[in-house]
Order: sequence, then C-alpha cells, then structure tokens
Amino acid sequence: MLVVMANDATPEQIERVCDRIRRLGFRPHTMPGAQRVVVGITGNQTAITQEFEDFPGVAETIRVSKPYKLVSREFRHDDTVVGFPNGAQIGGHDLALIAGPCAIESREQAFAVAERVAQAGARFFRGGAYKPRTSPYSFQGLGEEGLRILAEVRERFGLLIVTEAVDEASLRLVEQYGDVIQVGSRNMQNFSLLKLAGAARKPVLLKRGLSATLEEWLMAAEYILHEGNYNVILCERGVRTFADHTRNTLDLSVVPAIQHASHLPVVVDPSHGTGRRNKVLPLARAAVAVGASGLLIEVHCDPENALCDGMQSILPEQFDELVRDAHALRHIGHSQEFAARA
Ligand code: PEP
Ligand code: MN
Repeated sequence: MLVVMANDATPEQIERVCDRIRRLGFRPHTMPGAQRVVVGITGNQTAITQEFEDFPGVAETIRVSKPYKLVSREFRHDDTVVGFPNGAQIGGHDLALIAGPCAIESREQAFAVAERVAQAGARFFRGGAYKPRTSPYSFQGLGEEGLRILAEVRERFGLLIVTEAVDEASLRLVEQYGDVIQVGSRNMQNFSLLKLAGAARKPVLLKRGLSATLEEWLMAAEYILHEGNYNVILCERGVRTFADHTRNTLDLSVVPAIQHASHLPVVVDPSHGTGRRNKVLPLARAAVAVGASGLLIEVHCDPENALCDGMQSILPEQFDELVRDAHALRHIGHSQEFAARA
C-alpha cells in the first residue's frame, strides 16, 4: 500500500505515518518525488486499514495491485537515476556504456581492453573475477586477484567497475573493490544473495534469469529494494527459446515493458543476448533505438584466445563503431523511452 502525502506535508507528519507503520509491524519506505512524498508499506498486509487517510498531511492511500511494489511506477513516478561519485549516471540523459572482457584473465589483458574502451567513451568497465560456469572444468575466474586488477583499472583509467558476486564471500569483496555489484542470470532467484545485495552499499546490476518472466525479474529486484538498496539497474541479456541460431534470444520488447511497469533503469547486453560477435552491433543499435538506458558489451583484444565467451566478444575497433552508432541513435531511444513510460 502507498500513503501519498499532501504537497505541503511536514517532515513531522511524514514521520508520524512512518511511526504508525512500524508499530503495525510493517516497514515504511519513504520516496521523495518531484511533487510530494510517497510512503510505501511493505510486509504481509492482510488487514491494513484505511486509517492512514485520516492522518494529518495525508492526501490519499493507494493499494498497489501488482505483486511488486517498491520497483513499480506507482511507488515512484520519476525514473530512478543511479549516480556515481565521479558524475557518471545510469538511467539519466546519457547512454551508459559498460564494456570489458567476460573474465579478468591477467593485468595485461584487462589493461589492454580498458585503455581502448575508455578511449572510446565508456565510463564503466566490466569483467568477472568470479565466473559462474556451466562446467566445473572451465576457467572459474581469478577471484580476489581479479578484483585487485579491477581496482587498478579504476585507478589508472578512471573507469567505474561492474563485476559479479556469486555468493556471500564474493559479495563482500565485490562491494569493497567494485562500484557496481553484478548479480548474474543464474543467481537471479538466489534470494539469500539478493537480500545481501539489498543490504550492500553499492548499486546492483541485476541480470534477467535465463527463463524469467518480467514479473519474476521485477520480484527479484523487489527483494533488493525491500532491504533498503534503491540503486538497482536491470539488465536484459537474452532468454532461452527454441531458436538455435543464437545462444539466447534477446528480448528487446521487455525494455518498454519494464519502463512502463517500473522506475528502474534497464540496460541491454547483446553479447550474452546473441552469443555471436557478428550480431552484437546490430542488436546494440536496436537496443539503443528501443530506449535502453545503457549497453553492456563484452570486448577483448584477442577474442580467439579468450578464456571465456570469446565467440561473442567484439574487438576494440568494433566497439569504437558501436559507440559512434549508439550516439547517433540515442535521440530515437529518448523519445521511445518517453512513450513507454506513459
Ligand atoms: C557475464 O556478464 O559475464 C555473465 C556471466 O552474464 P550472465 O549472468 O548474463 O550469463
Ligand atoms: Mn560472459
């Protein structure tokens, strides 16, 4: 349920509402908007009454019919813009470019890619130190050593670090070394990991599960917000279908669907979404045109010898081209985003 405060409600009146919510055994979530404050009530509210309508400073109460509450547009009308100390944003006016290798293999490999993607205009560097692999015999990542390399990349190139956590121990380290905690597709419904990410103090990039519906994905994000972390970025990365010409089927229709249902920014990963190098650029262009807030792209200087996902990694010069095209298409994406919100 949402308690919508009047435009001129005082901080004391808002606190009175929050206090009553706590006394009833629920959790209040205060969301300041451009016009007025909305207080969301979460918890298993079987018998919550209309009593809040009689509180001073309250304009109205709204029952949110969807199972997801805090991630919904009803709770927050304005788009969430995830901001970073260096001024970069995800969900704001500029397209966010997150680029880098699938896995951190060595300092040399990471630095070579970082230099090129930074030159091309990316502000975020991706690369896994912990790799959830289908086979236990595949490269599992360098672990903390990989995180140390990523921290050096930030220092040297001024790039913000996006990297995956796979369990509690890695999440603690990723929170310490990185700037954005990635929760991968295979962990989208790892509810204990989601709760830990919700208690973390860094933004979370939540990838869509391999076969997750829009509602399941938003419910996973709801776990993170419910724990108090409102800085969540959704990432579409393709889903399993019968189609076998690509690794996954990139579901670009989910972008406007999310923008309609939720205030959270959504970025698109055409690398995992197609699994094929020659399909990354066309689908990246389409993702920008459909209104994505950013792109997550795997880039490698020597993809043939990559330890992970070489087939879908593009070369730095292809990334240069992708960035040029993305900027040229961004204005189409903006009007598309605007339309989707309505
Ligand atoms: C990745 O980003 O390298 C990754 C493992 O992605 P996903 O969880 O989408 O498979
Ligand atoms: Mn990968």
